[in-house]
Amino acid sequence: QQHIFSHLTQAPPDQIFGIMNAYKADTSDNKIDLGVGAYRTDEEKPYVFDVVKKIEQEIINDNTLNKEYLPIEGLPDFNKGCQMLLFGKDNPLIESGRIVTAQCLGGTGALRVGFDFVKRHLAGDVYVSNPTWSNHNQILDRTGLNQVNYPYYDPNTKGFNCSATLDCLSQAKQGSIVLLHVCAHNPTGVDPTETEWLQIADVCKARNLIPFFDCAYQGFASGCIEKDAFAVRKFAELGFQMIVAYSFSKNMGLYNERVGALHIVTPNKEISAIVLSNLKIVIRTLYSCPPAIGGRIASRILCNEKYFKEWIEELNTVTGRIIRMRTLLKNELDKLNVQGNWDHITRQTGFFTFTGLTPEQCDKLTQEHHIYLLRSGRMSMAGITSKNVSQLAEAIKIVVQNE
Ligand code: PLP
Repeated sequence: QQHIFSHLTQAPPDQIFGIMNAYKADTSDNKIDLGVGAYRTDEEKPYVFDVVKKIEQEIINDNTLNKEYLPIEGLPDFNKGCQMLLFGKDNPLIESGRIVTAQCLGGTGALRVGFDFVKRHLAGDVYVSNPTWSNHNQILDRTGLNQVNYPYYDPNTKGFNCSATLDCLSQAKQGSIVLLHVCAHNPTGVDPTETEWLQIADVCKARNLIPFFDCAYQGFASGCIEKDAFAVRKFAELGFQMIVAYSFSKNMGLYNERVGALHIVTPNKEISAIVLSNLKIVIRTLYSCPPAIGGRIASRILCNEKYFKEWIEELNTVTGRIIRMRTLLKNELDKLNVQGNWDHITRQTGFFTFTGLTPEQCDKLTQEHHIYLLRSGRMSMAGITSKNVSQLAEAIKIVVQNE
């Protein structure tokens, strides 16, 4: 039999996972991993939240739990907890049943379920920021939705290009979907201000656009869970029907447990019931129902005041370290008089800095200095420590000067 895969050619490796593997294979003692968006301690170690470890033990010892299937839309307590966290505890949308929520397989799972739902029941073009997290483009491609870029990032100011974004969206076809990063935009670290969010909301209202938010970094932009939810809460308050894909991978450090949620805000609870029934078919045909452990952990954090407080304290430590690394790197570059302006390192927020380094400079950092980052110049700030920051600044100085 002739082999049935003869028409296939080698597909490119995933850029981010590719960098992760190259870093692991590098035997140098001085290597620095600025590729993956996962938190590292100042000792360059992965971090498991203490509150997560504690709850894991509690779950293992809980004889009331079993391995029966969860509902298609996941754990009810988890879903309620997610709504309160993102929309605010007392948001009237929750009480009135206007938010449909399903527990999903991380943020990626929520995006995929959400866009499958869009493809089947809403259609329309999907506007995505240029640039965006590369998996957005890939997911939309696989879902079969048409993508249109909106400008978003201005390489000159290394900031948000609000006027170009508004111009572009104001010409969008009525009923289009707009994918918006709630905070800590990946890869640029550049977010709209509160005033700019209101302008975006105005255009969305005027053009009848449907906001599809991606929230993968709540807590990482401002360091405050409440402040980082501004865009979603404001759009909700303005009466938008909208979709949100949420990830707990970063803010609970639950990367491999695959914990996320999809929210759909509808006009009323009768429509919510109809939307949920259709959403359940999307999920049932993709993976049937979600796994339990991660959802149980997150749910106990969200629904227990004591655990919630402990989580917020630990999250503050995590986000605080990343914020400190921004200042540290900026100071080191200034100290070495590295050519160019590096103010954007402290101006940008969240996990990543969009450094402005060229792909060639990034290649040199990797090949000559064992520093791993995306060729777009995106640097994961969590990979920087008080010990490697001067080595990093010196390497940046060399590649920038040798241009
Ligand atoms: N959305 C954005 C912007 C992200 O950066 C990520 C993860 O890197 C995700 C979604 C998905 O996260 P998860 O690992 O939970 O699938």
